Amino acid sequence: MGHLFMDCPPAMHCPFCSANDTKVIDSRLVAEGDQVRRRRECVACGERFTTFETAELVMPRLIKSDGSRQPFDEDKLRAGMQRALEKRPVSIERLEEAIAHIKHRLRATGEREIKSRVLGELVMTELQKLDEVAYIRFASVYRRFQDLNEFREEIERLAREPSKE
Ligand SMILES: [Zn+2]
Repeated sequence: MGHLFMDCPPAMHCPFCSANDTKVIDSRLVAEGDQVRRRRECVACGERFTTFETAELVMPRLIKSDGSRQPFDEDKLRAGMQRALEKRPVSIERLEEAIAHIKHRLRATGEREIKSRVLGELVMTELQKLDEVAYIRFASVYRRFQDLNEFREEIERLAREPSKE
């Protein structure tokens, strides 16, 4: 998984003497690969400290059904799932775990671009594990949306076809 990192951690100030020249002694993946735990040593005072840094991982872009591309938007994903989970007995922690899992799966594809439909299916899989009602809510809205898209695509396709008269 190491190759997925942008291996250029931001400058890190020493918490003891605030020198900004620190060296990394050890780094490892934690939180299912979403974070890097780094052991650092200050070059100036020699103190050691640990940092947890969010892995700067490249998420694949989403290919929408009309062929346009969109960057992955975690806030939008969270908002959509929260809407489905409204007033359901599911903790924030479990929602965050599900989001982490989805991101993990997306990265694990190793693709630079994936169909937005793949994300939709992943969200449904996770919601199904969290709460049946939330799953049904999401699936019904999502499927209707997909059908509408397909309908629109079909109309557009027909409109593009040369007239046979
Ligand atoms: Zn220091």
